[in-house]
Amino acid sequence: MVNLSASNAALVRDMVEALGAPAVLLDGQGVAQALSPAMPVLIPGLAVGKLLALVLRDPDLNDAIEHVALGGGRKTVELVERVPVERTFRIHIAALNDSGLRHATLLTFQDLSEQRVIERMRVDFVANASHELRTPLASLLGFVETLQGPARNDERARERFLGIMREQGLRMARLVDDLLSLSRIEQRAHVAPDTPVDLAGIAREIVDSLTLMARERDVTLALKTPREALQVPGDRDELLRLMENLVENAIKYGKPGGEVAITVEAGESEASVSVRDDGPGIAPEHLPRLTERFYRVDTAASREAGGTGLGLAIVKHIVLRHRGRLTIESKPGEGATFKAILPRFEGRA
Ligand code: ADP
Repeated sequence: MVNLSASNAALVRDMVEALGAPAVLLDGQGVAQALSPAMPVLIPGLAVGKLLALVLRDPDLNDAIEHVALGGGRKTVELVERVPVERTFRIHIAALNDSGLRHATLLTFQDLSEQRVIERMRVDFVANASHELRTPLASLLGFVETLQGPARNDERARERFLGIMREQGLRMARLVDDLLSLSRIEQRAHVAPDTPVDLAGIAREIVDSLTLMARERDVTLALKTPREALQVPGDRDELLRLMENLVENAIKYGKPGGEVAITVEAGESEASVSVRDDGPGIAPEHLPRLTERFYRVDTAASREAGGTGLGLAIVKHIVLRHRGRLTIESKPGEGATFKAILPRFEGRA
């Protein structure tokens, strides 16, 4: 243990102030003597001369500091702060001998908040994915049992059940495809694509391939693109997927008999593609969550339309990998506009 005599107290303070991690030195009474630069960023109310117990009013933390200050040995505690946002810290508390009855203590903080959010997301994701797969699987197994048992000799029921089983199988296949796409895009997230891809060409291809689907819902696809090619550094397959997901959604959730406008535009250093429908639109409270995995405004309507709830999550990840951004604008009753803005290829260093 360091002996905090008057001569080395200044050195200890200097050392605490030089630390990269958030740390605070307390005297035997729990008053802050020195802070590392990261400390006030983490706990804004804390300053030299302040009693820590008045800033962090957590009984477990303060009991642990008391225990260490009285010579009971090091301690580690976890602290959850709920205001202004939920944050979790792990705090190591060690004593420095200041030759008084009570020891000075050094507290080092580790911010676990991000780690906890990621852990929670992972757990939720596995639970959601399993649930999404379990529903069609249960239905499939139910029909197999019915076909093996009561409906064994019922020709008409067999035809109908096989049709439903095919639908459920296709739904599971779509889900697995979407999950794999998402994980592939995420794996490559740190490698930005750099092959020139013509965004206008991509839009034309998708409009062609979705014409039939649009016709089934009596939806008109109105495409506007610049005459010349508009290149972005991109991954062709991913950009096709991005465009397909947005246009498909506009057809699925837009107005039957309405219009979907697909517009590709060139900016100075950016290119954008926007997809606008004239459907019922999306209420503002849903907008920030639309790109979360499995988030749907209306789960039954999404399932009915063959949705997996992953389309917009895939779009967001593709846009991020392309170093672009996605904007969503909508007012209930006035349709929705999804716009992907990507850096242009031309004029790149
Ligand atoms: P899904 O497979 O359910 O279509 P997405 O991730 O593509 O999943 O979309 C998530 C949800 O966002 C949809 O379930 C739907 O509620 C809503 N949504 C997406 N596009 C539109 C749109 N153009 N108009 C209204 N709602 C939309």
